[in-house]
Amino acid sequence: MSSTTNLLKTQSTEAVNNAASHGDIQRHPHLWFEDGSIDIILTISGGTAECRLHRDFLARLSPTFGSQSGCDGTGNLSESNTRTFEDSVEDSADLEALFLHIYHINPVILNPTFDKIASVLRASHKHGFESIGDAAQAAFQELYPPDPFADFANWERTEEAAFLSVKYFVEPALKPLLYTLITEVGLGLDENEDPNAPTDDQPLPRRMDDTDLQIKANIVDRCRYGFHKITQAFTPSLFQPTNSGHMKCTDILAGRWSDLVVLPALQHSWASMPIQALREIRKIDWAAEGVCGTCCLQKDEDWKKEAEEFWEQLDDLLQLSDYEKSSVLGG
Ligand SMILES: [Zn+2]
Repeated sequence: MSSTTNLLKTQSTEAVNNAASHGDIQRHPHLWFEDGSIDIILTISGGTAECRLHRDFLARLSPTFGSQSGCDGTGNLSESNTRTFEDSVEDSADLEALFLHIYHINPVILNPTFDKIASVLRASHKHGFESIGDAAQAAFQELYPPDPFADFANWERTEEAAFLSVKYFVEPALKPLLYTLITEVGLGLDENEDPNAPTDDQPLPRRMDDTDLQIKANIVDRCRYGFHKITQAFTPSLFQPTNSGHMKCTDILAGRWSDLVVLPALQHSWASMPIQALREIRKIDWAAEGVCGTCCLQKDEDWKKEAEEFWEQLDDLLQLSDYEKSSVLGG
């Protein structure tokens, strides 16, 4: 190791496998550059892998990282040769993902999985890589678009994602994720359900400190509040038959509303999931029930508009304005 090389000791769940097999330090297969000026050791149980990276380059991206690694961001290296980052295994895996992104070896835009984006998001915040954090946030928003016609039911990892969106204030993703938690995941909304118990399909695998637990508890409270507000706001229009342009068509809608809307609404709790309910109502074959073509088109447009308006209303029902960067940083 050269005199200008620092040593950051950290751990990774994804460090090199063959290093793990015999416990030696081996070069990371992707994160080793001969002209690098800082060494970082990624460790997993029984093995370690060494990365050689460019300290001044990294310090320009993050003054925080620069000071952590003994560089002032101008390329001047301090005398110190060794720095140790006491990271958890999870944090170290995040750091590895961050470097793979920064060096364009595995950037978040390439195969943007939740795990990769979440790792880069966490590590960039932790180590002060602000511009990288912005890129990770943009990729995160792509996974959870703020669109009332998004496919909420098929979104994955929504509980963890909601947590990240609040913790790192990914503002555009807050509404779709909180709405999905309330309407698809049902996070602790049943009075008898323990909100802190992990669900089968969505465990919370990461260690959480007190601030994290506080954020999670806050999300559960907000979801409970939102659940009641949404139900209150939507119930009247759901159980009230709708009018249309022709008396005959209005009569048909009124006559069939109970069977085609109210019954499934009671069966599937549509009252607390307005966007999905309106989607189902639009799917009903009203023409087959005798509603004329003009009224079918008009009603479809009305229900689409109602979904969009409800989506706007969610800002208030979910108290989104209370979420802001400062409150998140303050826990
Ligand atoms: Zn009509």
